[in-house]
Amino acid sequence: MKKIIVVGAGYAGLSFIKGLTENIFSKAEVTLINNNSYHYHAAQLHKIASGEADKSVIYDIEKIIDKRVKFVVDDVTKIGKDYILAKNGKYEFDYLVLSLGYEKEMFGIEGMDDAFDLGNYEKSLAIKDEIYNKINELKNSKIDELNIVVCGGGLSGVELAGSLATELKEKEGKNNFEFNRVNIIIIEALPNILPMYDKDVVQKATQILENLGVKIMTNSKIIKKDDDGIEIENFGSLKGDIVIWTAGVKGNSLIDNSCFKSYRGRVEVNEYLKPKSCIEEIFIIGDIAAFKDKKTGKFYNPTAQIACQMGTHLAKIINAELGLAKVPKFSYKNKGSVCSIGKNYAVGNIFGKNIYGKFAVIMKEIIEKKWNFALEGFKGLLRG
Ligand SMILES: Cc1cc2nc3c(=O)[nH]c(=O)nc-3n(C[C@H](O)[C@H](O)[C@H](O)COP(=O)(O)OP(=O)(O)OC[C@H]3O[C@@H](n4cnc5c(N)ncnc54)[C@H](O)[C@@H]3O)c2cc1C
Repeated sequence: MKKIIVVGAGYAGLSFIKGLTENIFSKAEVTLINNNSYHYHAAQLHKIASGEADKSVIYDIEKIIDKRVKFVVDDVTKIGKDYILAKNGKYEFDYLVLSLGYEKEMFGIEGMDDAFDLGNYEKSLAIKDEIYNKINELKNSKIDELNIVVCGGGLSGVELAGSLATELKEKEGKNNFEFNRVNIIIIEALPNILPMYDKDVVQKATQILENLGVKIMTNSKIIKKDDDGIEIENFGSLKGDIVIWTAGVKGNSLIDNSCFKSYRGRVEVNEYLKPKSCIEEIFIIGDIAAFKDKKTGKFYNPTAQIACQMGTHLAKIINAELGLAKVPKFSYKNKGSVCSIGKNYAVGNIFGKNIYGKFAVIMKEIIEKKWNFALEGFKGLLRG
């Protein structure tokens, strides 16, 4: 029996596990290692931070994987050429699939290590606790004003600010809570938010956020964070009671300390999802894999979409390798993306077409439900 080890139960790792065919289990022993017992829908973590969603974005891993897959909760600390080390033991493999996901990238900004971020479920819960604790202090007049600073106007920053503004209005508004003392401010270094979309989409998103009371500061480069807030180049200090970093992610730092040639926690992979360096039997997928678009020569952005496609494709590669069939090459099909701005509005671009409003909200729901369905079948469609 061959030993297949998969590290990381995110979109990429679970898409791989779900794609394995029946005959693999007669030829290989498959072990999935993850540093906690649950999977979280990372693309929905802004909803945890804002209070829009609760446990509906987490899944008990043992309940959603094939019973023949051995599941181990362990924290991997070192990757060798034919073994990995984790806090609770050493694991040997014939094939290793690495899908360790993302970490925050602060680009060396002084003090930003202390900022909150959407790095995982627990970190997102910590943001929610901090926000609602501070709102209580505001209600009890322990503080006069609350500045929530969202550093970065990309997809996750806009989704967080939009969701938070909507939730606070809906939940706290019922208690006649006055919002004029709560400021949600997006700080963006570029001339506009959501740089991946064209100007019509950006304009709509800006207008919706402003209608929700979110303030947007563009052309604003953050150069420092301290206990009082942040410092912006050519502007000065901005008070930040809660500072949340959403302006950048990199791959997993474990990758930089292993046998791979890597850059910011990511390794370039070929069309068989193997790194160019290190050894043949290691595959790398998801946010830690850098895969080049042949036409432009540029690397694709790390997203849940490419992570899922890589995981599903790698299952085909392993099914073929162990079944002696022809191993297929990976290519990425970018179907576009949708950015939610609270639960009532969204913008995006799908298959090259700009989308807005209710239609975009429905498209976002379809994307989210598709993943729920992949994990739990019809039961997943009933999740909130
Ligand atoms: C707020 C937000 C919104 C987003 N929206 C979108 C969107 O609309 N569309 C889109 O395509 N993408 C979106 N993304 C990006 C997307 O979430 C990531 O690209 C995706 O999660 C990457 O999947 P992955 O499987 O590589 O890693 P992850 O989903 O990060 O999974 C990695 C797994 O590995 C585990 N792990 C890490 N280190 C170890 C270790 N040492 N030992 C054991 N286990 C370990 C982690 O616990 C985790 O379970 C969004 C991200 C955020 C934060």
